[in-house]
Amino acid sequence: MKVTIGHLYPDLFNLYGDSGNVQCMKKRLEWRGMEAEVLALCAGDEIDFGKLDILVWGGGSDKGQALAVDYLKRIRPDFKNYVEDGGVVLAVCGAYQLLGKYYKAGEEVIEGLGILDIYTERSDERLVGNLILESPLSASPVVGFENHAGRTIIGDCAPLGKVLYGRGNTGDGGYEGVVYKNTVGTYLHGPLLPKNPEVCDWFLERALKRRYGEGVNLTELSDEPELRANGNMVERLVTSGGRSR
Ligand code: GLN
Repeated sequence: MKVTIGHLYPDLFNLYGDSGNVQCMKKRLEWRGMEAEVLALCAGDEIDFGKLDILVWGGGSDKGQALAVDYLKRIRPDFKNYVEDGGVVLAVCGAYQLLGKYYKAGEEVIEGLGILDIYTERSDERLVGNLILESPLSASPVVGFENHAGRTIIGDCAPLGKVLYGRGNTGDGGYEGVVYKNTVGTYLHGPLLPKNPEVCDWFLERALKRRYGEGVNLTELSDEPELRANGNMVERLVTSGGRSR
């Protein structure tokens, strides 16, 4: 079995090692004897969404986001069809914001794809620090790092998780991220997936089932070091540390 991973705009969006999410997906497929092809989809490239099993889109600065607007307009119809058809998407931070209607950064309004009914507005306080969630995607808490000025309003959409430590979508420590079909938007850098192997497998399983049928299951991998690191963070910041702002 082969999985094709599209890495969207690595030339404009790649903060805090977010490309590690692509490497993690590839490795976890290869460790299970599967093939993984990674396509770097740079700004202006034609994108054949029919070829893709997973699309990974990393975090980006306000400047990178503004530069992407015209390119995004061109791919919007195909991108939207892919999402509605259950295509698997991981969008981090600046990318998460652009899945929504807009990102308002001061006077400037950066137009988003409007695929999700969410929007983001920049606030004066930048939210920087560790972020830990309880999420239906993973039995272990989801651990990562946030660094954003935007506050994202997700309305009636489902969040990725409930904040156990950190600030999240609106900065109030309530909820973080968004999930729609097989699309996830999140403020979690890390990179997210090497720190949270169960979350990585959530994406891989969705992609494999969509391409090869519901009967496909992932074999277990030994994630002992990753889960130990994850457990240490949870112990330090949540269990014994109490929640922090
Ligand atoms: N420009 C956005 C913000 O600060 C996204 C930043 C990011 O991707 N880390 O809110």
